[in-house]
Amino acid sequence: MSGLTARRSWWLAVVLLLSACGQKEAQLHDTQLLVMGTLVNVSILDGDEDVAAVATTEVEQRLRQMHRDLHAWQPGPLTRVNEAIASGESAPVDTEKTMLIERGTELSRQSGGLFNPAIGNLIALWGFHSDDGPHGPPPDAAAIRSLLAQAPSMTDLHIDDGRLRSDNPAVQLDFGGFAKGYAIDEAIRILREHHIDNAIVNAGGDLRVIGRHGARPWRIGIRDPRGPGVIASVEVSGDECVFTSGDYERYFEYQGRRYHHIIDPRSGYPAVGSSSVTVLSHEAIVADAAATALFVAGPDTWAQTAKAMGIDQAMLIDDKGNVYMTPAMAKRTHFEVDPPPPIKVVVP
Ligand code: AMP
Ligand code: MG
Repeated sequence: MSGLTARRSWWLAVVLLLSACGQKEAQLHDTQLLVMGTLVNVSILDGDEDVAAVATTEVEQRLRQMHRDLHAWQPGPLTRVNEAIASGESAPVDTEKTMLIERGTELSRQSGGLFNPAIGNLIALWGFHSDDGPHGPPPDAAAIRSLLAQAPSMTDLHIDDGRLRSDNPAVQLDFGGFAKGYAIDEAIRILREHHIDNAIVNAGGDLRVIGRHGARPWRIGIRDPRGPGVIASVEVSGDECVFTSGDYERYFEYQGRRYHHIIDPRSGYPAVGSSSVTVLSHEAIVADAAATALFVAGPDTWAQTAKAMGIDQAMLIDDKGNVYMTPAMAKRTHFEVDPPPPIKVVVP
């Protein structure tokens, strides 16, 4: 979860602009929260104004608590767990962390290890565990090799009686690849507890919707990874999430090259070949993890990874601007640029 940037707030505005169609038919309780280092927009379209305000406050408190509990580098509950792992000790873990470790282990297994929340050491080595952004230069090749040789994996972790231990002291948990998804799922759970049926929770362009936006579906823009605007849009309704992983979100440039924050656990370097991946799914935690995994898989193997993770709607834009989509994604995607980019539909 990175710091708020002008770029991100601009992007949020684009998403809102697109989703504003059909707004006339519905009452809107719209709140922007600055939480988890990003702007989170909670839009509620039904129910009582007071209920909407109470539910939004509860969402805000929950997201603030998660930010503290799951932060990968600011000292807190997760850094304490990581310290214990590094020193070969066991550590108590609450039910939330237990659940995230279990889900993270399963998502990592499905992705063939391309999504790997155990590589916190590598992410820190690249300088992404910092509040004022990564600066470079890239780390030493020998340091990367040495971390890779220790092969941190979620399968090294074991939980018994609420205590976590690791077979491998090189494991460091970093939930950055799916924590935002989990947070959005939690926000929607809270809204539903308040009997809110039509809403959207949007964290910097990653979002989940429930219900409808008035008489029409919600219209969501997918950002052009190399341009200033939207490359495509999809209409979503019912209960769906749209998550994008991009190399433009956190990066530094060094000697004319971009080094971004999505690390290929096989090489120890930022993943090559992709510039963005968008995934649609019913659960935000899955969409978030899958977007990261497919980004790492890249243009040659993303479709196999999608299949292995149970994803049938995904789009990858490679570093040359070519677009790859599953048939189900192609059916519902509307390109907003003229002419549309080169598109290849790939059956997973
Ligand atoms: P996202 O923007 O969802 O793709 O997540 C990127 C964040 O996930 C990074 O900032 C890291 O904290 C973490 N991360 C980077 N590479 C991986 C990976 N291969 N597997 C899991 N998490 C990763
Ligand atoms: Mg992700």
